[in-house]
Amino acid sequence: MIIVMGVPGAGKTTVLQGLKENVRVINYGTLMFDIAKERYGVSNRDEIRKLSVEKQRTVQKEVAETLSHEKGMVVLDTHCSVKTPKGYLPGLPFDLLAKLDVDALVLVTAKPEDIFRRRENDPTRIRKETLEELKEHDAINKALLAVYAAHRGCPAKIIYNMEGESEKASAELQKIIRD
Ligand code: ATP
Ligand code: AMP
Ligand code: MG
Repeated sequence: MIIVMGVPGAGKTTVLQGLKENVRVINYGTLMFDIAKERYGVSNRDEIRKLSVEKQRTVQKEVAETLSHEKGMVVLDTHCSVKTPKGYLPGLPFDLLAKLDVDALVLVTAKPEDIFRRRENDPTRIRKETLEELKEHDAINKALLAVYAAHRGCPAKIIYNMEGESEKASAELQKIIRD
């Protein structure tokens, strides 16, 4: 499994949609949303991170349990950390990370100003952070990326999804999948 992470709006889903080879992509947030809308009446995926930390952890754990059965080449679209009202919640706490069959970890990022603008221009999602908050979030993610890699002993790659060049980022990711 290759785990792709990054701040909201960095372009994870876009980069994964640009993969040429037929590869199975699973979106962690979609699996969480399916549970959270049934159980807690959440009406859009950007509301999940506003639930209590306890509820988020419960759903997060259930999804990890489902994913623990996934072996081989799967690409997971998820988050290094989730910004909750109580602080950054690790996207992959060690007990959950240990259940996953991880080959490589990838952080998708870009210039903070570009990510900020992408969020503003994307009416389909509600992603609210100031530029300074976004920078802090990206820094936390980079720290967590290294920690997750040390935990699993697997490589950690940072892919820059530059403005207007998501195909290049997809090609870079494709290389990691192929090797
Ligand atoms: P989330 O974590 O909230 O799901 P994400 O990381 O999956 O976010 P996307 O939904 O893929 O982000 O992208 C956010 C917005 O940025 C979309 O409108 C997308 O079209 C745009 N975008 C993605 N990559 C680029 C790029 N390289 N250049 C310009 N716009 C981009
Ligand atoms: P996404 O569309 O990738 O933003 O996913 C929707 C939402 O699901 C995210 O904004 C988070 O609230 C939640 N989510 C996704 N992955 C994780 C994770 N690993 N841990 C906790 N919450 C997650
Ligand atoms: Mg996405």
